[in-house]
Amino acid sequence: MAFFEAHDVNLHFKSFHALRGISVSFEKSDVLVICGPSGSGKSTFIRAINKLAGPLSSGRFLLEGQDLGSMPRRDLYRRVGMVFQRFNLFQHLTVLDNIALPQRRVLRRSRKDAIERAMGLLKRVGLSDKAARYPAQLSGGQQQRVAICRALAMEPELLLFDEPTSALDPEMVGEVLQVMKDLAAAGMTMVVVTHEMGFAKELATEIAFLDGGQMVEKAPPSAFFSQPRRERTRMFLDQIL
Ligand code: ADP
Ligand code: MG
Repeated sequence: MAFFEAHDVNLHFKSFHALRGISVSFEKSDVLVICGPSGSGKSTFIRAINKLAGPLSSGRFLLEGQDLGSMPRRDLYRRVGMVFQRFNLFQHLTVLDNIALPQRRVLRRSRKDAIERAMGLLKRVGLSDKAARYPAQLSGGQQQRVAICRALAMEPELLLFDEPTSALDPEMVGEVLQVMKDLAAAGMTMVVVTHEMGFAKELATEIAFLDGGQMVEKAPPSAFFSQPRRERTRMFLDQIL
């Protein structure tokens, strides 16, 4: 049994077959990078893991052998964290409360514990001095680092990223990728949808290519870049590299 397994996952939006028989597995501390053209199903796949898309037409996701589909949402959100393209911070809450509040609601941590942990995380991403600010007062890169802290505060076993840098101005991409690199180095298990191929080359355990709702290729970075087996993957790489 692998740490995470997707078994022949199919998902429809009405009659549209968005995910077509996706099977993939990985181990703890692995980083699975997912790339592919727009509309290929990357977001749908990653959101389906966390039950934000769905329900599945068939198939299942297993985390340490447990079916995510039948896991209570509270457990699911605690164990599987998500970082979105557009940060999705609570605009009316300070940075500190954005990170502390979910800990209190979901984990029932005391205010003191939640704040202590939030401050520790902010320090880790270099934002200690922004705790009292509101999201709108931060740059995109800073907001995304706060969103990562909010996810980490749940101490997830798996962290999902859906194009975490693609809404950022170019000069802010690096600071977010650096936080993700630090996380990977610390052993965090991650699924990352991204077209940042430098990140993928350096950190991915495997890179998967989605096309038309199918996972048409999956290989370690060296093989993925040097000898893509499928013509479709080769064309995609030619476009973005
Ligand atoms: P990607 O993230 O790879 O760009 P998506 O997963 O967002 O692709 O979308 C995959 C396909 O599913 C697209 O054709 C998209 O239009 C369709 N789709 C996504 N979400 C919905 C939805 N809620 N209802 C209907 N179709 C959807
Ligand atoms: Mg997407």
